[in-house]
Amino acid sequence: MKPELAILIRLQGIDLELRKINEEKSSVPKHLEDLQEHLSSKEAELNELNERITEIQKRKVDVEDEFELENVRLGKSQKKISSLKTNREYQALQKEINEIKKANAAREDEILAIMEETNSLQEEIKGKKQQVKQDRKEIKAEQKRIKQLQARLNAKIAALTEDREAVSKDISPNLLTKYNFLKDRRAGVAIAAVTDGICSACNMNIPPQLYNELLRDEKILTCPSCQRLIYALKVN
Ligand SMILES: [Zn+2]
Repeated sequence: MKPELAILIRLQGIDLELRKINEEKSSVPKHLEDLQEHLSSKEAELNELNERITEIQKRKVDVEDEFELENVRLGKSQKKISSLKTNREYQALQKEINEIKKANAAREDEILAIMEETNSLQEEIKGKKQQVKQDRKEIKAEQKRIKQLQARLNAKIAALTEDREAVSKDISPNLLTKYNFLKDRRAGVAIAAVTDGICSACNMNIPPQLYNELLRDEKILTCPSCQRLIYALKVN
């Protein structure tokens, strides 16, 4: 094999490794993003629960005030009813008393319902706070893990980049340009082995004449189907 081809194969090995590490690096924060999204939704839910509790507590105060006022009015009416002279007046006031009683019974029901809802909301808030706490803890641990992993990957990238520079020096500029051009357009694989007349990258047949030329190993050739640089690889 021509020495330059052997160097290109080494370079491709380095580049594929670099590609893999860079992909790993960009996929790393995905889990953290999921955790942060989960936390945000739990915090929003917690906010809503707190808002609801504030709202119903305000309503409870209003209903209690109304109840007290109406209760005072009821007491006055009940005192007044015994002193009434006519049946018509008596019946009118009796009707009013019944209406006040009915409205206040409804107010009592509403106050009870608010108290029950408050209790269950408080339970829910407690659970939600626990989830938020857990999420924050997980995020912190994940951030630490990512930082360590990124540092490890960056060190690998630095070492491989150094190797790449050293290896590239021994390749002619034209060939290196061609290699880089193909690498960027062929998913990182610019150079492919040909075994039994078949290109290992695109799986297409190499015409017999070209394959014979390839076996003579006199110059660097390209696959007519995928345009990658090719070399013959004999399998026993
Ligand atoms: Zn090919």
